[in-house]
Amino acid sequence: MSFSSLGLSEPLLRAISGCGYTTPTPVQTAAIPAVLRGADVWASAQTGSGKTAAFVLPIIERLAVAGPRGRGRFVRALILVPTRELASQIAGEIHDYGVHLSQDAGLKTLVVVGGVSINPQMMALGGGADIVVATPGRLLDLIDHNAVSLSSVATLVLDEADRLFALGFSDEVARIIALLPAHRQTLLFSATFPAAVRTLAENLLRNPVRIAIASTPEGKPDILQRAIEVDVVQRTQLLRNLIVLHEWTRVLVFVATKYATAHVAEKLRRLGIEAAAFHGELSQGARTQALADFKASRVRVLVATDVASRGIDIEQLPVVVNYDLPRSPADYTHRIGRTGRAGESGVAVSFISAETDAHFRLIEKRNRIQIEREQIAGFEPLETIVPAPAPTGGIKGKRKSKKDKLREAAGLAPTATVKPFTPAPAFESGELFPFSRRPPQPRRS
Ligand code: AMP
Repeated sequence: MSFSSLGLSEPLLRAISGCGYTTPTPVQTAAIPAVLRGADVWASAQTGSGKTAAFVLPIIERLAVAGPRGRGRFVRALILVPTRELASQIAGEIHDYGVHLSQDAGLKTLVVVGGVSINPQMMALGGGADIVVATPGRLLDLIDHNAVSLSSVATLVLDEADRLFALGFSDEVARIIALLPAHRQTLLFSATFPAAVRTLAENLLRNPVRIAIASTPEGKPDILQRAIEVDVVQRTQLLRNLIVLHEWTRVLVFVATKYATAHVAEKLRRLGIEAAAFHGELSQGARTQALADFKASRVRVLVATDVASRGIDIEQLPVVVNYDLPRSPADYTHRIGRTGRAGESGVAVSFISAETDAHFRLIEKRNRIQIEREQIAGFEPLETIVPAPAPTGGIKGKRKSKKDKLREAAGLAPTATVKPFTPAPAFESGELFPFSRRPPQPRRS
């Protein structure tokens, strides 16, 4: 299969070849002809599968063929995304693929995201735009300021659609969709589709072409998944040792809170590893700088919250580490999808403690994976898992820790036990849920 057989015109084919792509990926082969003929598309494709080009290329082609846009504050194609970085990334790809379009067909593309001043965006939207790549909140602000009209949108893309429909975003997305013409093309792209999203998607799409690439073996990225048992207090030191031992050049480390991003980055720096923090409440300038430093190898480790888990494309990222486990099985998929992109291989390491073991088992069950537990010499965990108590006669199935055995032998009372980590009920249905506070850790003696 070649790009030229998919129905794209010469300026786009030249740009594709300039990007170094020789053959379309499976999602591109399936989606490009469907989008070109105006069909709705529902694509469940792994990140790294080339899904951005799968919708961007045919959108550019259709807009270029249709000729210049009319006057007024109208938008012809709207791409909604959950994060600012993803918006910039997509706009970058639109620019790269459109470089050889003739002057007349030159497409005006605008990025509309929060965290930066709204005025330049209002000004830029003055004459309308061919393509707007937006995060929902800022787009609504601009609509409320009458800076833009969505009444002429011919194509809507929801990228990372499950996140767009999840907590916090769904109302905003619904408000935006209500402002679009009923007669339009809608394209939904995401790596995962939880049940609630499937229902919404079914209501939004008209006879969609269904594309499911992730389930075919050749569409799966090459990611080695590892699960290492380690006590909570030993994780930073273990991380440092793994980085040095394996000579990992670039590592994306996920933690649960924005506080932890700064804390873990600081601890790594003290251990001699260049590290930066990345989370949603940094200023946009600081976010852009941290990502640029990481991509340019000025820092070796980026310690991030889940804001970095969606759609961000970092070339040659060999390793992702779940320092704290993700909240949901879908988040696990998104996080590890940052590595093993575009045909490269990658490693995804998850740190498992006594407290989070049960939670990781649920992630494995939901994602239909089973990862062998490892222990690393010198970092063997001392804390052990305590399953639910039996009705009578002590604690059924309790495995005593080395420390407790020693204390028992010395005639002392056992140390505090570690409570099993119990995910909130919503987790059972596969939905996102707020991370409950972790129980206090027993102190090491
Ligand atoms: P995405 O899944 O859209 O985030 O794309 C992941 C990476 O694959 C990006 O760096 C793209 O530039 C790259 N890519 C997209 N299409 C192709 C292709 N046909 N051949 C090689 N690389 C590609």
